[in-house]
Amino acid sequence: MLTHQGYIMKLSYLLEMENPETHFFRVTMTIEDYSEENMSVTMPAWTPGSYEILDFARHVRKIKATALTGENIELSKKDKSTWKVANGKFRDIKITYEVFAHDLSVHTSHLDSSHGYLNGTNIFLYIEGYKDQTAELIIKPWGDWKVSTGLEKVGDFRYRATNFDILVDSPIEIGNHRSLFFNVEGKEHEIVLYGHGNENEEKIKADIQKIVEAYLKIFGHLPYKRYVFIFHLLSEEDNGGGLEHLNSTTIDVDRFTFAPFESYKRFLSVVSHEYFHLWNVKRIRPAELGPFNYKEENYTSLLWMAEGFTNYYGRMMLLRSGLLP
Ligand SMILES: [Zn+2]
Repeated sequence: MLTHQGYIMKLSYLLEMENPETHFFRVTMTIEDYSEENMSVTMPAWTPGSYEILDFARHVRKIKATALTGENIELSKKDKSTWKVANGKFRDIKITYEVFAHDLSVHTSHLDSSHGYLNGTNIFLYIEGYKDQTAELIIKPWGDWKVSTGLEKVGDFRYRATNFDILVDSPIEIGNHRSLFFNVEGKEHEIVLYGHGNENEEKIKADIQKIVEAYLKIFGHLPYKRYVFIFHLLSEEDNGGGLEHLNSTTIDVDRFTFAPFESYKRFLSVVSHEYFHLWNVKRIRPAELGPFNYKEENYTSLLWMAEGFTNYYGRMMLLRSGLLP
């Protein structure tokens, strides 16, 4: 991949979770053929779609930079989200750090002995000036855990993102969750279920397929290769909510939301809302919201359109998909 300096640079992230019960993910970022003498790396302050400043850098610890040949490289904090790496003559650089992940919500990350769930905005640093850099992600799951994500798969536990926006716009579920599959327009749709409640797998699968088919009828085309619905079935006290992504969504629900019908209808309506966002907001969005500035607030007066239209369509499409009596 050519960067704007005309050099060919390589970027990869290795994600490990050797002791899930400690809630720390370990990240090794490897940069090869970097062409400048200084580097700044930043952890986003917010997650697109959830319009709230959370300063994820506060969960980073034990950050260290070395040359790939082993020499130490000085690394210092520049501001609350950014570190300066004085790489000097070194072109091949490794940055390692740990991230505390013990907050299970749609826009944060969570690691314990039951699973790992992450939003890249909380976990991956980006190199300032190089957000358009293609990156490879290698995941080493704990034990026999598997991985579900909307990221493009290029090998066993290996994924590729064409830029930082894509990398962090694909939440990742790692664990022994159930996966259900269906196809629409020849495209695979995966439903990930973490946790258990009063769900009926076959019904969820059939109903979500109906929603996707109803949208296909309106738009004539599904603008992705694969789509992933990540559902966290949680206890009543946990935070509920949904967050939209380019080709996936995460929805946290009360594990007993699947019956009676009134409550199941609310669940389907959230599914429809988040799914519609893949067009409205993720592909048609207020200019202020993209390309993203991950360091600070992004102001827009168009949320009425982003959320209002989505609420309207989300419900109307339930009617069109024949799921409402
Ligand atoms: Zn929304």
